[in-house]
Amino acid sequence: MVFYLLRQDETFLSEMGDAVAGLKDGLFVCGECGNVSDANPCSICRDALRDRTTLCVIESIDDLVSFEQAGVYNGLYHVLGGRVSPLEDQDLSQESVDFLLRHIENAEASEVIIATNPRMEGDLTYFTLLEILRDKREKGLRISRLAFGLPVGGSIEFADRMTLHTALESRTRAR
Ligand SMILES: [Zn+2]
Repeated sequence: MVFYLLRQDETFLSEMGDAVAGLKDGLFVCGECGNVSDANPCSICRDALRDRTTLCVIESIDDLVSFEQAGVYNGLYHVLGGRVSPLEDQDLSQESVDFLLRHIENAEASEVIIATNPRMEGDLTYFTLLEILRDKREKGLRISRLAFGLPVGGSIEFADRMTLHTALESRTRAR
């Protein structure tokens, strides 16, 4: 990055310096979903064309960006901003649990997709969320999880044991 900057002219560097200094001005954490945006609520939460009955729960804003860039999802998000990881001494705070429950109630969501990462911490976070949402699930809230499996273009020969296992577990019936 330093080498890139050294090749730029003074004006560019000065403008970039101002932009970096003001980076956090005018940025808000969305009070509904936890996304970071130039407005509160964020543009996704304010978008009337999005499906407001589905909430996709993700660990971090990076994951939200990936979904948005892929353009494959049209519901709302909820950024947990944390995960369950005993090795890193991390757990979901009561505050973030309350924030999620409030969002589900306010959005009148009928489905929650738990999109935690396909690794041990993601599994633990998933099971913790299942427990937290148990009451709502009994009252009819649909809870789903992303299917994990072989990457498109990958090959079975090089897949690791967990990938093969989840690919088998999340197999779909031929239609
Ligand atoms: Zn939002």
